[in-house]
Amino acid sequence: AKASGRNCYVVFNQQMSADLAARIQLETELRQALLLQQFSLSLQPQVNLNSGKLCGFEALIRWQHPQRGIVAPDEFIPVLEQTQLIVDVGYWVFDRSCRYCAELIAAGLNDVTIAVNISADQFLHTKLPDRFGQILQRYGLSGHHFELEITESTLINNFSETLGMMYRLKAQGFRLAIDDFGTGYSSLNYLKQMPVDVIKIDKSFVVNMLDNPQDYQIVASTIAMVQKLGLQVVAEGVESLAVVKLLQQHQCDFAQGYYFSMPLAETQLLAFVQQVLQQ
Ligand code: C2E
Ligand code: CA
Ligand code: CA
Ligand code: CA
Repeated sequence: AKASGRNCYVVFNQQMSADLAARIQLETELRQALLLQQFSLSLQPQVNLNSGKLCGFEALIRWQHPQRGIVAPDEFIPVLEQTQLIVDVGYWVFDRSCRYCAELIAAGLNDVTIAVNISADQFLHTKLPDRFGQILQRYGLSGHHFELEITESTLINNFSETLGMMYRLKAQGFRLAIDDFGTGYSSLNYLKQMPVDVIKIDKSFVVNMLDNPQDYQIVASTIAMVQKLGLQVVAEGVESLAVVKLLQQHQCDFAQGYYFSMPLAETQLLAFVQQVLQQ
């Protein structure tokens, strides 16, 4: 028994060091990914449910790994966050979003809004408003074309710092959104005190809202509450026309999901926009 116990220990230990080695490898590769231009941004369309028209896009990062192909953000964003690499990658994401925005405006989408995901450490980077301001200037843009998405955990953990940063960014014209709403410890009391423009209902509630009465109730009451607070509401994870119709009945403002479009890579984006403009 002792021997096998020892074997188990050894196996476990090897597994642990294999995991650690894989993790160090991943960090090393992520450090190089920015320099080697392996990141790209895909844009997923957002639709105004009142007019039925395209109103903007959410920018979603992609990593083209030389051996593994496309790696999902859920696999590498947490590592970028733990290593602080997210700060530099975040500036790259905003720069790339501005370049897309300028291209979309030039193509004829004058009022386009691009939603950009901001991690907690990025949001609390003191230089964020200055750096974003410089990037905007480089492309001749103003902040009102951008919606910055933060999650509930950013707010809850650093309430007063977050609030201060929100006011600085609002002064530059940025719209602010709370992402993944309903999954964290959102307090309505916090929400009331913050200069937030938009709430995004998490896709985990939206995808099943036709079959699951609880999810349906959560979505319906979130829409009603958000509108009573005078804010706008986006449903993400919209995969069918039936869900679109239900959201319209509840006067949800905007929707995003596979029913309308997958996130679009650069090569697909202009074709998509030309098709929209011809309608
Ligand atoms: P998120 O911000 O909640 O983004 C929405 C995710 O839902 C995206 O996954 C999108 O591709 C996916 N999605 C879109 N439509 C549908 C649908 O109809 N059904 C379902 N089931 N899913 C849909 P993605 O691109 O894999 O991104 C995962 C997460 O990674 C994002 O979740 C966000 O938290 C993070 N992320 C992505 N890009 C960035 C970035 O540039 N910076 C930061 N900090 N985080 C990012
Ligand atoms: Ca998001
Ligand atoms: Ca989300
Ligand atoms: Ca998410």
